[in-house]
This record gives sequence, structure tokens and C-alpha cells, in this order.
Amino acid sequence: MRANLLDFDIEGLAAFCAALGEKPFRATQLFRWIHQRGEADFSAMTDLAKSLRDKLAVAAHVAAPVVLSYHASVDGTIKWLFDVGGGDAVEAVFIPETDRGTLCISSQAGCAVGCRFCSTGHQGFSRNLSTGEIVAQLWFAEHFLREHLGRNTRVISNVVMMGMGEPLQNYAALVPALRVMLSDHGYGLSRRRVTVSTSGVVPMVDRLAADCPVALAVSLHAPSDALRNQLVPLNLKYPLADLLGACARYLAHAPRDFITFEYCMLDGVNDSVEHAQQLVGLLATYAGGASWCKLNLIPFNPFPASGLLCSPPQRVQAFAQVLMASGLTTTVRKTRGQDIDAACGQLAGDVMDRTRVQQRMANQRVVHVVRAPFAPAGAVL
Ligand code: SF4
Repeated sequence: MRANLLDFDIEGLAAFCAALGEKPFRATQLFRWIHQRGEADFSAMTDLAKSLRDKLAVAAHVAAPVVLSYHASVDGTIKWLFDVGGGDAVEAVFIPETDRGTLCISSQAGCAVGCRFCSTGHQGFSRNLSTGEIVAQLWFAEHFLREHLGRNTRVISNVVMMGMGEPLQNYAALVPALRVMLSDHGYGLSRRRVTVSTSGVVPMVDRLAADCPVALAVSLHAPSDALRNQLVPLNLKYPLADLLGACARYLAHAPRDFITFEYCMLDGVNDSVEHAQQLVGLLATYAGGASWCKLNLIPFNPFPASGLLCSPPQRVQAFAQVLMASGLTTTVRKTRGQDIDAACGQLAGDVMDRTRVQQRMANQRVVHVVRAPFAPAGAVL
């Protein structure tokens, strides 16, 4: 079976090349062709010796999952649906802003954590993605966007692992994928610009700190164990004191001097002024106060099976006021790409709904492209 070179970080590719009798610098050349130039055809890699290209043609390929659909929002957000086989599909979402281009990618088909407010959680776990399937989302999106925008420089400046799945429950595939993103010969992203979002797999937070400390976001969603046990079942195994302790330890390794806490605003569930006060107290007790905590309040993206609704804007504002008055840096996430169901990660509603994904896959074996106004070539994303 041919090796998929998207599965390798640069050390892995060097080992693969060594097995072919090639020197390590060949791996660097190959890595740059694949990730920096988006090339999948070995015969086009003209500075590689013909003998190596011939060997690669037999032993390897560069294979990304097939794109089932592509949708572009009027606000520039783009969503791709990738077929990862066996009836599973995952999505990646590109969110352009004036000063950055962020790609939200998936780490698993489905998710075993089962958060109450997440439709992926409602649909269950199918399988882990391979390193190649994680990297392919970035590889495909970056080079698609360069071509689409007529650019030969980087378009995606930030990657967030907030799509489908719990990345720290797919650790073995995650870490090499992160290394590809960070490599100067790959995408050259700084650790500050690559974010892993977790629902709180405490031992793996510590391992990530040691192995590949990128920016960390934590799905908090509740100010007490009693409530978080209901919303994020993983809390039964790793309660808040343990989770916040791991965050405090992570900070010593983190590329930023803060950790982001995501808090999904659920109408009548976790969004009262009392909840906000409880949250302030929690962070004061276990996280040493406000100094390294950044709160991101996220309007819930409702889906029928959840039985939950989004908090009204006034309640979100009142909640934010309590946090800010206590000195906590607090933001309210903007909703993007609503016309293409582009909510991603924890809030993913439709994007994460495997039932819908599978239904769409059945209906859309032919790629269905909905084109909407898009930034003109050369536009700053
Ligand atoms: S919110 Fe994240 S961790 Fe929780 S079920 Fe959804 S994908 Fe899994």
C-alpha cells in the first residue's frame, strides 16, 4: 500500500525517505513541495532527482479526502465538507477577517464526549481522523484559497482545532498534525496562532504542554461541577478543580499568557447573573483570579434534538458585564456564515450533525457548489 505523505511530519517524512535510501534534505524538499506549494504530483517536483520521483510514484501519494461540497457565505466564510469514507464526513470552515484568516478543522468523525449542547455529541463517535486527514483540511483549504484569490503567499494565518471531535482524544494523530502546521518547511504558523480546544481531557492537557504547547482553549460552559456534569459529561471524570489545575500548569508552557475559556450561552441554563458571579468565584478560587483567563461567550446555535435555546442578547450582555466588572477579559463571539450553517466547533449545531451530514452525502454524491459573492482576487482577508 502506498504511503500518504500527508500523514507525516517532517521527522516522519525523513524516516520514510531514509527507508527509500534518500538523505534527510530530500525530505525537506519534498515537504516544501507538498505543503508550501500544494503539489501532489511527484513528476512536477522538478528539483527532485528523477530516480527519487520514480520511487515516490511507486511507494507514495499525496491524498486528501474528496470534497463533497463547498459553500461560500456572503460574509466570506467558506465551508467544505470532506468525505472521509465509511459514510462519514467532516467539515472545515474558513473565516476571513481584516487582519487574519482562520481555519477551523475537525479531528474526529463524530465525538464520544457527548456534550449536551453539541449535535456531534448527540450523534456519537465514529472514528478518529488520521494525521493526514487532519492536515489535508489545511492543505486543501490553503491552496484552494491561494488559487481562488490569485495569491502566492499564505492565506490561512490561524488554525483552530474546534471542529468536529475532541482533539485530545485523538492525541497520536493530533501532535504530528500540529507539527506540520508549525514547521517552517510546512505552514510556518506560530504556536500562538494554532489553538487546540478541549472539553477537558486533563492528562492530555499536561502531555500537550510537554509535547507541543500551542494556544489552548477550554470548553467551560458552567461555573459549577453540578451544572457542568450535565452539560459536559467528561466533567464527571475530570472535575473543574482538576481541569483548572491543568490549565494553570499549562500556562507555564503556553505561547500566550492567557488561556481562553469558551462559554456557550444557553437560555435559562447557565446564563444568569448568579451564574456569572459563580464563575468569577470559581476562577478566583482555582485559577488565581482573572489574570490569565480570557472568557469567550458564544451564542448557542440551536438544533432541535438539544431542547436548548440561545440566550437573549441582553442576558449575554448582563453576563459579560459581571465578568468584566471583576476584571476578566471577556469577548462575545460574532456569528459568521449563518447563511451556510458555518458555526463550528463546540457550537456546531448543523455543521456537526452527522445525521444531516450523512443525509447530505447521500443526496450530494455530485459536488454541489453554491457560489456567493466572495472577496475579489488580491483582497486582504
Ligand atoms: S462540544 Fe466538542 S467535545 Fe463536546 S461533544 Fe461536541 S465536539 Fe465533542
